[in-house]
Amino acid sequence: MLTLPTYDDVCAAAQRIQGHAHRTPVMTSRTINQELGAQLFFKCENLQRMGAFKFRGAFNALSRFDARQRRAGVVTFSSGNHAQGIALSASLLGIPATIVMPQDAPASKIAATRGYGGNVVLYDRYKDDREQIGRDLAQKHGLTLIPPYDHPDVMAGQGTAAKELFEEVGPLDAFFVCLGGGGLLSGSALATRALAPHCKLYGVEPEAGNDGQQSFRSGAIVHIETPKTIADGAQTQHLGNLTFPIIRRDVDDILTVTDAQLVECMRFFAERMKIVVEPTGCLGFAAARNMKTDLRGQRVGVLISGGNVDLDRFCALLSASAP
Ligand SMILES: *Cc1c(COP(=O)(O)O)cnc(C)c1O
Repeated sequence: MLTLPTYDDVCAAAQRIQGHAHRTPVMTSRTINQELGAQLFFKCENLQRMGAFKFRGAFNALSRFDARQRRAGVVTFSSGNHAQGIALSASLLGIPATIVMPQDAPASKIAATRGYGGNVVLYDRYKDDREQIGRDLAQKHGLTLIPPYDHPDVMAGQGTAAKELFEEVGPLDAFFVCLGGGGLLSGSALATRALAPHCKLYGVEPEAGNDGQQSFRSGAIVHIETPKTIADGAQTQHLGNLTFPIIRRDVDDILTVTDAQLVECMRFFAERMKIVVEPTGCLGFAAARNMKTDLRGQRVGVLISGGNVDLDRFCALLSASAP
């Protein structure tokens, strides 16, 4: 039986990934500070190794494998970034990796996963049960399954980004974090409650897939069909059995944003801050921008979760919404 991670686990994870993960920069923008009348701090996990925070949780989880697990290898299922995080971490640690990925995942993510040496198995995200495929492979070949979010070592690893942010900028009044299955949000919640107990903490989902919001407000995990949204890293159908109790306990609210708002943020990041952010990575900023006057005079953290987007897709999204 797996138990809920604590802030001590986040600290242990921070030691394990030190020297392997980047300590990513915190960026600011005078333009956005003026627009919102607030002071924003962007934690740039789009500049993390393999382009997203997922490297943190994956490396932490694989670092804890014993000798038998290392020899047999790891298997996982993922819509992309977790796959790359596992594949890269596994290659750094000399562990064989099998990755179950949706066949319509961005081509850059599939190619990058293969490039890191991962053995990729494709499935249909609207028909197949990826968790079942992963479990079958694990059983047949003695592999250890590391799921994308509902695992204590993954959650603790993801929490190290928020820990670094608070250590660098000090206490915040509000903090906006992208939400898919809740690995990033639950880990960030552990760090937030330890380092800035009075900070308002918000999880942010695509409007088309607000299962997290429904779950948070009803008190039970709500399952939905795979949502149709450009935020492919947040196309999860439900929160996890481990992520949900921490989110319910430590998060202040779950907010939603539209795909159009995400594209506007992609444009802002590229044009004004000179950074490429994938649609899912814009969730936190889109919600902060929406809150407008409510943030006036506050110190606000925004977690930019990733930057992996095919450049052709990036351009297509921007030109379709050209002002
Ligand atoms: C996985 C992912 C998320 C969502 O993280 P969860 O831990 O599943 O909530 C957000 N943004 C990006 C870029 C991701 O890869």
